[in-house]
Amino acid sequence: MLNVILLGPPGAGKGTQAKTLSERTDLAHVASGDLFRAALREGTELGMLAKSYMDRGELVPDEVVIRMILERIQRPDCANGVIFDGFPRTRDQATALEAALVDKHQSKIAAVLYLDVPQDVLLRRIAGRQTCKTCGATYNIYYFPSHRPGICDACGGKLYQRSDDSIETAQHRLDVYFEQTMPLIEHYRLQGCLHEVDGRREISLVTEAMLIALSLNGTAK
Ligand code: AMP
Repeated sequence: MLNVILLGPPGAGKGTQAKTLSERTDLAHVASGDLFRAALREGTELGMLAKSYMDRGELVPDEVVIRMILERIQRPDCANGVIFDGFPRTRDQATALEAALVDKHQSKIAAVLYLDVPQDVLLRRIAGRQTCKTCGATYNIYYFPSHRPGICDACGGKLYQRSDDSIETAQHRLDVYFEQTMPLIEHYRLQGCLHEVDGRREISLVTEAMLIALSLNGTAK
């Protein structure tokens, strides 16, 4: 069992990389933001609660996120391991995850891949991001546009801009990241499991660097 955390600011490419890594290994992709957006589409109470924070670029309260993630990793698809995307984002979330893994006699965090990207690039990546309504695939109008504007290459679905990807909200999400999530870099560095990956490079090169860091480059699909 291999548990991996993708750490990095909004726009660093965590979602894109986690999706590919999950397809190329037998690890489940668990993305807290995707789970909230799915809950919102289903109109659940959790979705409505999360929306009120997401729209402002604030973090959803720790106890809500922690409960949701700990439930999610009980599902059978997580038996071989998990790629955590967007979780943990605070010290309390990190501590709760570590405690839960010990409690359930599951392997601890094997690696934390920290995607490093400079701030000016991040803002352009976030503000240019387009997401498919149907399959969740992401594009970028500056760096990685879909072939037909507004239409998903993968499934033909309609592309939209996440409401929290506007410049103002994106800037606030970055501030929240620097304040609340960045301390986790040091936390995991001290635990000896942090791998820094240069997230400015081409998508496929970043994936390869991550597979090498996980020693999965020989076995990945
Ligand atoms: P993401 O898709 O990872 O960019 O997350 C979108 C939004 O969902 C964030 O801006 C937060 O409002 C919320 N969110 C996602 N993951 C977490 C988390 N681990 N802790 C708190 N809020 C989260």
